[in-house]
This record gives sequence, C-alpha cells and structure tokens, in this order.
Amino acid sequence: MEEKPMARLMVTETEVDAGFYKAALEGSGIPVFISGMEGSAFGAALDGPNEIEIIVYQKDLEASQAIVAELDEEPEDEIPAWNCSCGAEVDEGFGVCWSCGGEYDAAAKSIDTDSNSG
Ligand SMILES: [Zn+2]
Repeated sequence: MEEKPMARLMVTETEVDAGFYKAALEGSGIPVFISGMEGSAFGAALDGPNEIEIIVYQKDLEASQAIVAELDEEPEDEIPAWNCSCGAEVDEGFGVCWSCGGEYDAAAKSIDTDSNSG
C-alpha cells in the first residue's frame, strides 16, 4: 500500500467536536482520520483533557481548513418573527416574505414584545 503524506488539521478536546468536524469533512468528500479516540483503559484514569487529533491527507489540508473555517463562521441563528417592508408580518423561521417574496433583512427591526409606541 502506498503511503500518502498526512497532516494534522486540528485538535479537539471532546469526541463530540471531533465527530462533528469529521462528519462535515467527510460530507465534503475528504477522508478523515481520528487519533486518540480509542477507548483506552489508561485514558479514563488520567487527569486532564483528552487531545483528539483530526488528521487529513496533506493534499486535503487546505480544503479542510476552509471547511472548518466556514463551520466556525456560520451561526445557526433562528430567524425571528419580522415585519417585511411591504407591511406583512412573517412568522419566525421563514427567511422569505409570504406576501411579496422579499428576503429577511437582519438589519430590519424584528417584532419584539416590549415595543415602544410613540
Ligand atoms: Zn413582504
């Protein structure tokens, strides 16, 4: 078997994090190898955080870093209820106005419970 150069993409402290990035990378077609996740009889007895290495092929390193950067950037915020510029009231979770088809504008004022009338 031919050996390909490999590189450490990142280190996480939990298996949950490692699994999250692994799934995202593999979803993009990048083979991922996890190091330090095997259940070790000694691991549980040791103090301190575990270091779980996420390893990819050297050739995939740049693409992997871009994917990880994107994951860290994207906040998964729910869209709150909002008032469209056309006057329609759009329920939360909808990014498009049901009335005019306009897109949700994050800068626009969302409907709040303590609205000041004046
Ligand atoms: Zn509208």
